[in-house]
This record gives sequence, C-alpha cells and structure tokens, in this order.
Amino acid sequence: MSQKILIIEDEKELADILGEYLKVEGFEVKICNDGKTGLEYFKKEQTSLVLLDIMLPLMDGITVCREIRSVSDVPVIMVSAKSGEMDKVVSLGIGADDYVTKPFSPLELVARVKAQLRRYQGTAKKEKDTSMDRICVGVLSLVPDSYEAYIEENSLNLTTKEFEILLLFAKNPGQVFSKSQIYEQVWGYQGVCDDNSVTVYINRIREKLKNRGCNYIKTIWGAGYKLAVEA
Ligand code: CA
Repeated sequence: MSQKILIIEDEKELADILGEYLKVEGFEVKICNDGKTGLEYFKKEQTSLVLLDIMLPLMDGITVCREIRSVSDVPVIMVSAKSGEMDKVVSLGIGADDYVTKPFSPLELVARVKAQLRRYQGTAKKEKDTSMDRICVGVLSLVPDSYEAYIEENSLNLTTKEFEILLLFAKNPGQVFSKSQIYEQVWGYQGVCDDNSVTVYINRIREKLKNRGCNYIKTIWGAGYKLAVEA
C-alpha cells in the first residue's frame, strides 16, 4: 500500500507542484486548502505524513499541529513563508518534526519527507523489538521504550525531539556532539543543518533539567555539547 501525504496549504499552485513531485516518488497525495478541512481529513483518513503551512484560512497551522499531536505522532513538517515566523514556531514546541522556510526546492522537501518517514518507521520498528532497559547517567534515567526521562523518580516531561536529543547524549556520556551532528542524528538527514533549532531544543532540555537541579548538559565552546555528570 502506498503512503499518503496530506498537504495542507492554501497556495494552490505550490500545493499542486509539491503534490506532483511526491506522486512521481510513488506517494499518494491529498491536498486541503484550509486548516479546518485538513484537520478533519486527518482525523478521518489514514495519513503517513503531513506537510503543514502556518498561515492558513479557517484554522492556522499551529493549531492544526497541536490538534494532530493530541491524537497522533505521525511526522509533521511545518512550512512557512517567513524565517522569523518559523523561529517563533520552533520555540513554541508544538511538536512538529521538521521546519521548512519558503522558498524551498521541491526536491529538498521530498528528501525531507522521505527522511521523516524513514525515521518514523525506524522508531516504530524499534518499539516492536524486545524492550530496552533504562539508560542511567548519574541521577538521570531514560526509558527509550516509553520516551520517558527522569531525574531520580521525577518525570521531565520531554517532547519527542527533546527526548531523542537527550537519549543521544545519555548513550554517549562525555562525548561532544556538534550542532550538525545532533541535527543529523535526531532529525535524520544530512546537509541542511538548522543550528538555530538545535540551540532552541538544547536550551529547553537544559531548562527542564535545571528545574530538577541537574546541570549535566555542558557547552564546549566552538565544538558543541556533551553530557557530563558533575564532580
Ligand atoms: Ca499560507
């Protein structure tokens, strides 16, 4: 069965072009031109991935993304006309998996769609494997099966991406990761490193750890970040 991509985009021409590129790659495509119709369609039909514009009639992309996240973890790629707008969206932490600013090349977007689908299917496969143990570093522990992280027994309430970044660190304590390495490992594709979103995510994880009195994430100036248990 082919995978279905839902495009929620009010620029009809752009939606059609993207749709054509995705169809060539063997995807089934459904286009909705406003947020409300898109969300209704999503709730009724099996969808593999959502391409979601931010500025939309009837219901904006941020609300649509939140609604999708309340019922599903399928990959969502946000599309925006302004990079400033995108920074705001990233910092809101609405649970999108990737962000693309217009104008972009349809081929780049297709590559990102494929990367997200690979990552999502990889996660689903991993979940079916025999359960992994807790990964513990100092007072921090992570349960990869349930995407839960704890300081002692207090849950950190991390989002999916925050958890994945922290898991990368916890599996390799002491190892320094550059922003582009983090991006590649967590978002799953090479070349288009978005330094800004990595920084935003690291700061949020750090904040959540700090609230529990934990300062394990260290900045190594000019190199990146690492997880280190304090002496
Ligand atoms: Ca729009």
